[in-house]
Amino acid sequence: MISSEVVYQEVYKAVQAMNVSLPVDVAGRLKAAQQQAEGPAQAVLGQINENLLIAAREGIPFCQDTGMVWVHVSLGEEVQIRGLKETISRAVADAYREGYFRSSVVEDPLRERKNTGTNLPAVFHFDIVPGRTLEIYILAKGFGSENCSRVFMLKPTQGREAVIDSVCAVMKEARGVPCPPVVLGVGIGGTFDYAALLSKRALTRALDHPHPCPYYAQLESDLLEAVNALGIGPGGLGGGCTALAVKVESFSTHIAGLPVAVTVNCWADRRAKVLLSEI
Ligand code: SF4
Repeated sequence: MISSEVVYQEVYKAVQAMNVSLPVDVAGRLKAAQQQAEGPAQAVLGQINENLLIAAREGIPFCQDTGMVWVHVSLGEEVQIRGLKETISRAVADAYREGYFRSSVVEDPLRERKNTGTNLPAVFHFDIVPGRTLEIYILAKGFGSENCSRVFMLKPTQGREAVIDSVCAVMKEARGVPCPPVVLGVGIGGTFDYAALLSKRALTRALDHPHPCPYYAQLESDLLEAVNALGIGPGGLGGGCTALAVKVESFSTHIAGLPVAVTVNCWADRRAKVLLSEI
């Protein structure tokens, strides 16, 4: 049995920390990008990096948009746990309230758009897997970048080059809007909706961990090169990197299709992971 209290504490800590400090791999890439940038791009990256230092030192969020929380739970079928979704939601709400993070979620999106005041609901996805572990992957998704995300239903014969063109098309349209340098999650395969989910799951992987399959690892590298060749640059001002990383996840699909989804994330690449096991 995994205690709900332990889940609550771990998710609470993770959600508070993710809004105040970036993962070390993301922070490292932003510092390296600043060293390699020129002109206004270097100034933009300098401000981002200074802002990150201040946020960590003062314990305050590094962006005013503290995002909508996205949660992917991978639950071992031998794990006994009660009230998992409610526990995670409570931890998210408490972390946002006690961290003074902005509540950005509105209910009834087409009519009243009333702020729920808790940053709930979070968006949940559950996978049931063999074993005795509970893995909780969390993103806090800013919507300046989320609004730039897209799904393409390519023809199966269009292949690899069309995937690269689609990803580049997203950034050509987005330009500086998603607060570059971005991190892109690319989902290939499945159905229309599942490709989008894959693109989010791609964002849960550390930037320094390439795809385990050499073919897709090479595609990640080629996508990064193609996006950076667009020259959009930090803040959309050119003169430096456009993307810090491109991460790919793939899945089987139908003979008649090649779905490709691109989730655009900004430099505020907030991700956290909670791993727990049955004792
Ligand atoms: S897109 Fe990202 S960096 Fe830009 S305002 Fe939104 S959360 Fe902040």
